[in-house]
Order: sequence, then structure tokens, then C-alpha cells
Amino acid sequence: MKRVLSGIQPSGQLTLGNYIGAIQNFVKLQETHECFFMVVDLHAITVPQEPAALREQTESVAALFIAAGIDPAKASVFVQSQVSAHAELGWLFTTLAYMGELERMTQFKDKSTGKDSVGAGLFVYPSLMAADILLYNADLVPVGDDQKQHLELTRDLAQRFNQRFGELFTIPEPYIPTVGARIMSLDDASKKMSKSNPNPASYIALLDPPDVIRKKISRATTDSGRDVMYNPAEKPEVSNLMSIYAHCADMTLDEIRARYEGQGYGAFKKGLAEHVVAKLEPLQKRYAEIRSSGEIHSILKAGAERVSAVANETLRSTKEKMGFLLPR
Ligand code: ATP
Ligand code: MG
Repeated sequence: MKRVLSGIQPSGQLTLGNYIGAIQNFVKLQETHECFFMVVDLHAITVPQEPAALREQTESVAALFIAAGIDPAKASVFVQSQVSAHAELGWLFTTLAYMGELERMTQFKDKSTGKDSVGAGLFVYPSLMAADILLYNADLVPVGDDQKQHLELTRDLAQRFNQRFGELFTIPEPYIPTVGARIMSLDDASKKMSKSNPNPASYIALLDPPDVIRKKISRATTDSGRDVMYNPAEKPEVSNLMSIYAHCADMTLDEIRARYEGQGYGAFKKGLAEHVVAKLEPLQKRYAEIRSSGEIHSILKAGAERVSAVANETLRSTKEKMGFLLPR
């Protein structure tokens, strides 16, 4: 069975972008692949996190995985920092990455531009991500469009290792949705929707109550026209809302255009809000049940135990090939 791995940072409230770009595919892939889904807390600390918030968000993201339909009997769900091989292989891959290739990463540029002090961890983020994926020899990595560049670097690092030290790592392929791979911010369609955006009006969180969702959508930026038409180059805001609509209502872009022909943006936004609310309602209900039962802790413990066996074996082979003296 082919292997799938992906992760989400506990760096804020999960958004519809995370759901459409990534989690929705996790749920599908668990039926046909051996899946590893993790909460990447070691990645989240590449920007400052308040300890209590980090702990709460880690538990919350894990519970949302389950609430969204990931079945711990089918997929391994775990927290990155609970499997120490990630940090260790991450360091080994940091030594294989070149400054020049890390400098070219657009996520680093986006997250560091305009900041007074930029942590070194943010710079080497992609080598830790490469380690995450290669530890399990994943074949497929379901991610949003923004992670494509990091995945290409992962492939380069795996090839570099295999050439220098001998064949060990599978070269992973990205698995990116055709529509919705890059959901944009509600207040600025030139930026992707991000859970770490300090302005909550820029995203719809999976746990936003219905009235908050309605308000955010009604205030979302649009152009001065009134035609509900998909044209990302000329109508980026409306096109983005249409992508969200298509996912939440399970309709095609053409069906949505026909549905709102001649009705203007008001009716369209109202319809969109109701579809988003309806889509998230069952997920929010399951989330509340999972959090109150406390079951997430035993799920994460079992997940970490199961994946550690795979991860530690890869780490051992990597160290052997690189020339580390292993204990005898
Ligand atoms: P942060 O702002 O802290 O980087 P994020 O919202 O970008 O948070 P990540 O944890 O970095 O979320 O990414 C988790 C997954 O969600 C990745 O697969 C990423 O590609 C995907 N993703 C993130 N934002 C979007 C988006 N706007 N549209 C589609 N997919 C997205
Ligand atoms: Mg991100």
C-alpha cells in the first residue's frame, strides 16, 4: 500500500483554506493509502508561540483531524514533537541543504519580510519538513499549493542524499487539489488565507460560530461589479468566494454562476454563508464531543507509538549511511 504523509501547524485556528487545501484530501486518502497525519508543533515554533496557546492549539488541531473524518483506526494521527526522530533527522537534513536554496523559498520570504528579528528556525523550516516526509518514505504528500516549493526541495534533498550516501529514500510526489489549492484571504485576494494572520476577518476558522461566519462573508472584499463569474485574474475576490462555495456546496463553478445570474453579490454571499455554516456544523458538533471526552490523548499516544517504530528504523539507516558510529 502506498504511503501518505502530511502535517498541519498548531499556529492558530484551522481555517477553511487548511480544510479545502489539505484535510479534505486526508479523509479521502485514508481509504486507499497507509496514512500518517501529524500536528507539526516543531514547525509552529519557527515563529514565537505562547506555551499555553501552543498546547491548546495542538490538542485542538488533533481533535479537528478526527472531527473532520480522519479515523485513527485507518490512519496514524500523532504530534510531531512526541516522535523525537523528526528533530533528529531534521538536523541531518539541515546539513544537506544549501543556503541558496533555502533563501529562494517564498514562505520564508513571506514570513520574514518586514520583521525586525527572524528566527533561524524559520529559515531551516524546509529541511525539517523534508525529514518529516522522508522518515516514513511517503509516496504522496497532500498539501495546498503554497507547499509545492517545499516539496520540490524535499525531492532534491532526498535525491542528494541517495546520490551521496546510497539509495535510501523514496522520492515523494505532491498531491494538490485542482480547485481550492490556494484559498485566498477574505480581506485581500492577493494573499493566501492563513491561520496565523493577525486579522481574524481574513479567514474563516473551522470553529467559527454561524453568526461569525455570516458576518465575515458579508464583509468579505469584492469588486464594484455584480456578476458572479469565475475569473481569478480579473475578479480574484469573487473567484475565491466561488471556489469556497464549490467545495462547501459540492457544486461546479458553472452551476454557481447560473444559480446567481443577475442577482448580484448580496444574494451570492448569503447563499455562500449558509453553505459554509451547513458544511461546518457537523464537524463542530463532533469536535465538541471529542474535546469533552478527552479521547484525543489516547489516540495521540497510540499514534506516536505506532509511527515511532517506522521513524526510528529510517533514522537508524540514515545514520548508518552517513557514517555515524552506532551503539553496539
Ligand atoms: P500559518 O499561517 O501558520 O503558516 P497556514 O494556514 O498556512 O498556517 P499550515 O499549517 O502552514 O497552515 O499548512 C497546513 C496545510 O494547509 C498545508 O498543506 C498547506 O498547504 C495548506 N494550506 C494553508 N493555507 C492554505 C490555503 N489558503 N489554501 C489551501 N491550502 C492551504
Ligand atoms: Mg503555512
